[in-house]
Amino acid sequence: METFTEEYDEQEFLDKYEDKIKLYMKHKLSEGAIKNNTFEFDIKEFLRYFPDAGDINYIVINYPLKVENTLSYLFKEAYKEIYGHDIDTEKELEKVQISIKNPIGCEKKIEDISAFDINKLVTFEGEIISATKVRALLKKAYFVCKKCPPDPDKKPVVYTISNYFEEIPRPICKRCKEEMVLDKDSSIYVNIQELEIQQPIDLMKNPEDPPKSIKVFLENSRGIYSGRVKVVGTVLRKNTRSKARLPIFEICVRSNSISPIESYQRIEVRDILKDPELIETLNELGKKKNIVDLLSNYLLSQIKGYEIVKKAIFLQQIKGCMKFLPDGTPLRRDSHILLITDPGIGKSTMLRRIARLLPQNSYASVTTATGGGLTATVIRESTDIGDGWVVKPGVFVKSNEGTACIDELTVDKEVMKYILEAMESQTIHINKGGLNVKLPARCAVLAACNPKRGRFDPHLGVVEQIDIPPPLLSRFDLIFPLRDIPDRRRDEEIAEHILDVHVETATKKYSILKPLEIDGIVVDENILKSYIIYARTCAYFEENLALFLEEEEIDEREIKNPYLTQSAKKIIKDFYLEMRKLGGEDSPIPVTARQLEAIIRISEMHAKARLSRKVEEKDAKAAIEIIKECLNQVAYDPETGKYDIDKAIGQLPKSKYDKMKKIREIIEEICALSKDGLASEEEIIERAAEFGISEREVEELLKRLENDVEIYSPRFGYYKVA
Ligand SMILES: [Zn+2]
Repeated sequence: METFTEEYDEQEFLDKYEDKIKLYMKHKLSEGAIKNNTFEFDIKEFLRYFPDAGDINYIVINYPLKVENTLSYLFKEAYKEIYGHDIDTEKELEKVQISIKNPIGCEKKIEDISAFDINKLVTFEGEIISATKVRALLKKAYFVCKKCPPDPDKKPVVYTISNYFEEIPRPICKRCKEEMVLDKDSSIYVNIQELEIQQPIDLMKNPEDPPKSIKVFLENSRGIYSGRVKVVGTVLRKNTRSKARLPIFEICVRSNSISPIESYQRIEVRDILKDPELIETLNELGKKKNIVDLLSNYLLSQIKGYEIVKKAIFLQQIKGCMKFLPDGTPLRRDSHILLITDPGIGKSTMLRRIARLLPQNSYASVTTATGGGLTATVIRESTDIGDGWVVKPGVFVKSNEGTACIDELTVDKEVMKYILEAMESQTIHINKGGLNVKLPARCAVLAACNPKRGRFDPHLGVVEQIDIPPPLLSRFDLIFPLRDIPDRRRDEEIAEHILDVHVETATKKYSILKPLEIDGIVVDENILKSYIIYARTCAYFEENLALFLEEEEIDEREIKNPYLTQSAKKIIKDFYLEMRKLGGEDSPIPVTARQLEAIIRISEMHAKARLSRKVEEKDAKAAIEIIKECLNQVAYDPETGKYDIDKAIGQLPKSKYDKMKKIREIIEEICALSKDGLASEEEIIERAAEFGISEREVEELLKRLENDVEIYSPRFGYYKVA
């Protein structure tokens, strides 16, 4: 190491490593190593072949740009030694970039990258928060002299650009001493993309600080727009436009090696699996009879009551089984939940709690975020690589593999299409400004809103009480009105609880949950999180252990999941048929196939939540209990005593629809008999009473008929059929 501490000496480097590097390169070339005009120089791999060449890692980290040039030269040599050379090969080889993989000991956090790292190699992890379109970057500038006659034997003057912020020198022709010009056609260009990469919360020293981000110029990019990535790159300095003309620089990173990281829980599960004591604790917990109840209550212990709703939210965190279509497309395993809460229930507290539970969960309030903020924004922005369209992933994309907590949900038509797509196919499709990309958004949605009229009215359909259009509403597996019903005993409990929380807040202990003891096992926030990850990833299956512990990326299709037992299947099927039968021939369809899928998903979540290898009767029963609670609240038509899913997601309940028809008939009859051909409201009310329709209802139905342009009012208090 001591020989290289001063400056980079190419000759010395070649003397030491030329043979080894060429051997390594030839070996990789024989395996077809050039991909996307990139040759990966994997330091870890190189050192496996040549364990005594350890110094090379140090040199690469300290002089990355210079080493890259040398490696590029050696690569061309190695290539030509195998395949020979001609002009065309020469030109093709110029396009190939050497990308450094797996350097050792230069891992950094974004917040720690500083002026000390300028011109050094670093690796870091981060989340893409903005990405430009892919553009062409002049990589190798060819210069020619316009004055002198062309000379085919003379090599062109080539300048390789490795720092975009330094001016390209204009070479002088040796023969005529004139300035040479850039030969645009012969010059070599590479794809470049400008990214803004942010430090993930789980890697921050203090999660309360505003997260730091860094600009990355990604060469040879094929277009990457979202997700968590690992970057290997060289820190560059960039002049800022300082008014005082002080030599102040901004720090950015140039990279040609960026790779998407496996999902966070994969990293997390690996940590769990390396801790046998923790595994034992989690397995013990899984054996407890009412573990799902205990943990769901613990998860949302700030909220008193609403046990079933809490259970649904806990299970949402566990997620269902991974399933794939024959072409490899993953099926949705997430349950989307909507909470319609009376004021004072603490919906925002609940949502924020879930958003902070795991790093890939996030929170947004529609009152402050735009529709694009939910899905993705494509805006025109001035960036270093030119004015153009920039993609900024929204909450759904940021919550890929997690839960998007959306507060104050109301949706304008503009973004409806995106949200529907995100909730159903779990991708966000962008087609704007020449960008046509799909961003993965495999997230569960936990949304909340208040009823329009202040309080939830169980007699009215859900759709008329909130500002959410029926198509979107139908994407939710579970809709729970959280009603604030006065109940003395519960009120007392809640009052006491709120007082407790306030005391805790005052003593600053509010963010830490009091540990819970389950038969001698102490469960705290960390155990809870570990349990969720352990259950979600099915890491409790012994067959999956080896998969998770491997360094390689996992093929998700290989992961074992619980299977549905015959007895569970029967219970689900019976329930489904019973619910459909409730409707009868003339009645609205109470439960649809969408609900059937939801029941299966929730049964799977429940089985995983108790670390079971199979979905059993008790899981199906638990799922049915949750679905019933939801149906009871939103789809139960108190007038007929029947379940009616249309009441929940849009259309009128059957009973109301029948009454509406009756009122229309009454108006028609009265009109036919009256002198002026109009029906007075008074008379309508009188006749409707004969059919058991109350005055209040008549008023409501008249309004509705008028809205639907079934009737109109030519004179105040009088109606006519349209
Ligand atoms: Zn010249």
